[in-house]
Amino acid sequence: MNTRKIASHYLFTGQRLVRGCVVEVAPDGSILSVERCDDLDSQAGVEFYSGILCPGWVNAHCHLELSYLRGAIAEGTGFAGFAREIGRVRGGYTDSQRVEAARAADAAMWAEGVEAVGDVANDTLIMPVKEQSNIRYHTFFEAFGLTTSADCVGELAAAAAGFRQASVTPHSTYSLQDEPFRRAVHEGGSPLSIHFMESPDEAALYFGRGSLAQWYARMGWECDFLHYGSPAERVAECVAPDRSVMLVHDCCVSRIDAEILLSHFRSPLYWVLCPESNRYISRMRPPVEMLREAGGEICIGTDSLASASTLSMVEQMKQLQGRAPLEELLRWATWNGACALGMQHEIGSVEAGKRPGLVLLESVDMTTMMLTPESSSRRII
Ligand SMILES: [Zn+2]
Repeated sequence: MNTRKIASHYLFTGQRLVRGCVVEVAPDGSILSVERCDDLDSQAGVEFYSGILCPGWVNAHCHLELSYLRGAIAEGTGFAGFAREIGRVRGGYTDSQRVEAARAADAAMWAEGVEAVGDVANDTLIMPVKEQSNIRYHTFFEAFGLTTSADCVGELAAAAAGFRQASVTPHSTYSLQDEPFRRAVHEGGSPLSIHFMESPDEAALYFGRGSLAQWYARMGWECDFLHYGSPAERVAECVAPDRSVMLVHDCCVSRIDAEILLSHFRSPLYWVLCPESNRYISRMRPPVEMLREAGGEICIGTDSLASASTLSMVEQMKQLQGRAPLEELLRWATWNGACALGMQHEIGSVEAGKRPGLVLLESVDMTTMMLTPESSSRRII
């Protein structure tokens, strides 16, 4: 059996940055051992890389099926403008264009070192791309639409059960009526992935204000869930406290929202940040410092190529740089994402017995431990 011994300036274990480690890897990618070594130069047969060796990235939020919309929607449309634009441009592509775009985006993620993805889906066209991929996908079939019934949500959950790793989730706290939302959050036991407080309009809706309220009024749609008072209170009242929940975007989460949610949930609450998508759509930034102080676990996602120039996890970390130490950003991009998707026993950290992938993060300033504009990553294992 040809094992490989791999070392670099630093190893990020999934929790911490450590110097002088040799990782021994079996041909199937399993980690055999992780050993400290004070004198790497004297070690025979060790492949040495310049940079930081990390477990494979976990992209906690993506919509791979929208990859064909790369560049189709201008930057800076704002939240309501983006929803309008995506409806307008969606129809003009063939199935094969959509599949090929998804395949290319999947291959680019794999090359960058992405090991697993929490991926939102509205149809099944690109499921074969994900099933054939080396990347592990958890597909969240999204219940969406104010006219969607609870029965429709049940059918969606039954369809999801036909795939290897898939489940149903509500799209958001503003796009489903009460009964279907409750149905979606009670189906199965998989994690939920809910778009949450991406824009101030989501909370304003509960007071009859903002662009969502105006749009719904124009369409003649009434909401039967406004009595909850806010998106945070709706989640806390409808979702069981032991459910694993990912709340995605969080740009407009207030400290009170965070406290309502964190006092409700017994299992960790995952804040999934997609900074490039927020920049692309609205120039907004998530309240990283408040979320770190409030509690819960932060993960990193890319959102889709419809609202991001890249699905690179390193580019997301660059945009979060300075708001938390690099070691913490790396934990968000690996271990926390693996935990959020329930994959922490196999991936997310470099430990004997796991098969997390190994990724080399290059062009890092090793004196300041900061990413540079040139920082990038590539897969070693
Ligand atoms: Zn999304």
